[in-house]
Amino acid sequence: MNEVILDIQNLETNFVTKKGIVRAVDGVDLQVRRGETLGLVGESGCGKTVLGLSIMGLVDSPGRITGGKILFKGEDLVSKSSEEMRQLRGDRISMIFQDPTVTLNPVLRVSQQLEEVFRYHRGMKGKEARQKSLELLSLVGIPQPEERIDRYPFEFSGGMQQRVVIAIAVALNPELLLADEPTTALDVTVQAQIIKVLKDLKQQKDSAIILITHDMGVVAELCETVAVTYAGNIIEQGDLETILERPSHPYTVGLIQSIPKMEEHGKARLTAIPGTLADPTEIPPGCKFHPRCSRAEEVCKKTRPVLREVSPGHKVACHLD
Ligand code: SF4
Repeated sequence: MNEVILDIQNLETNFVTKKGIVRAVDGVDLQVRRGETLGLVGESGCGKTVLGLSIMGLVDSPGRITGGKILFKGEDLVSKSSEEMRQLRGDRISMIFQDPTVTLNPVLRVSQQLEEVFRYHRGMKGKEARQKSLELLSLVGIPQPEERIDRYPFEFSGGMQQRVVIAIAVALNPELLLADEPTTALDVTVQAQIIKVLKDLKQQKDSAIILITHDMGVVAELCETVAVTYAGNIIEQGDLETILERPSHPYTVGLIQSIPKMEEHGKARLTAIPGTLADPTEIPPGCKFHPRCSRAEEVCKKTRPVLREVSPGHKVACHLD
């Protein structure tokens, strides 16, 4: 079995708002192994992006990690200083954001942005940093990189910008790569190309990848394991086949049913999960999903279910399992 490189223990990240405290990450336990690609899935607002930002040390005020540990190869990231996290980011841990314009500096050429990574973290200079940058642009499928490397980001299409972002993220062979909705902002054809780039990178590098997404279709393409989040908790976790073929938690069942299916006449059908995510400042007692759950019983309104193993490697937080 591969080494566990990320071990999150009882993590809590809160936001203080005028309406009250939002427990965006509410006691999460999660392990990721070297070479594993884990899909962290759930609807918008379920806490998956905040979990990613917590790992990266990028939670901004009024948010704050208020409890738990994030052990990266045994070192607790929660106790690291901002400078220590800055050193780690981009080097041993990196993140691809949904919108490439968040990562790319519009007034710097792509060559400057890529070469800076090698200069800052590896002390490389001139030709060496440029050569490495050209190799990376080839790796992520940018044609004629010699002609394009000195262009500004706005001279690239959205898909090509996202490839540059991926190039920057994997430049230093991070041991852990987080990708937050990396294909959501792109059209379907470009999405397929970016998924292929990520698949190829998986084969070439031995990094662990956490893919944060609301799209189970993308998860099915890329991930070996899946953790399903709901209102700041992980409510089901297992290997891809188990989650897709034998989902147990009613929320996961709803998510799986929401994967567009091609009907005989070729039309995609989307099944929505009834109800909406609870107001984060007014989380219901008991199971947080109970107001939306068609199987809810009395116990569900009073007692919060804990995540427990129901079969080897398959964990579920539901009273009925
Ligand atoms: Fe539904 Fe109850 Fe299970 Fe929650 S614990 S998912 S309300 S059956």
